[in-house]
Amino acid sequence: MESRKICILGDFAVGKTSLVQRFVNNQFSDKYLTTLGVKVDTKQVALDHGRALKLAIWDVAGTDAPTQLFLRYARGAAGYLLVADRTRPETLDACVTLHDAVAAAVRPLPYVFLGNKSDLRDQCRLQPALARTRLPDALDWLETSALTGEGVELAFRRLAAGMLNDP
Ligand code: GDP
Ligand code: MG
Repeated sequence: MESRKICILGDFAVGKTSLVQRFVNNQFSDKYLTTLGVKVDTKQVALDHGRALKLAIWDVAGTDAPTQLFLRYARGAAGYLLVADRTRPETLDACVTLHDAVAAAVRPLPYVFLGNKSDLRDQCRLQPALARTRLPDALDWLETSALTGEGVELAFRRLAAGMLNDP
């Protein structure tokens, strides 16, 4: 089976590790999961027309700033998930910075934008329309929740399909 390396990028505590946990193990923990270094999980996704892709998902600590370490992780990736916390609109700024850093370090890779923590409805102040404006080249802009699972499977599938179509 074909496989691809992907990264999950975004500001501190937006829910990157929780989203990977939800997708890979179908679990959510409200304990603070501080990611040390890098953790790689793998999971297969089934796509249309009987196609499937094996994803090696790199969850990297401290990806809020495009450091040298971050750039080494990004190299070799075929695509990425870019995550903001909808209760903290300023986390969209980190997404834009990281997006530009990937394009400069590697090339403009396919990615999906995730507005996470959508379950915290009363506190959601980041609207998807703003993400569309600031990150217009994303494959998709999804509302997700690692807590409920909303949009999580879809995000990985959209990215997988987008990478297969990427020359
Ligand atoms: P990371 O630093 O981006 O890897 O973020 P974590 O996955 O460690 O999550 C940071 C905090 O946000 C933790 O307390 C999580 O339980 C919480 N969290 C993550 N995703 C969600 C979500 O979708 N909804 C809610 N309500 N909390 C979340
Ligand atoms: Mg983490």
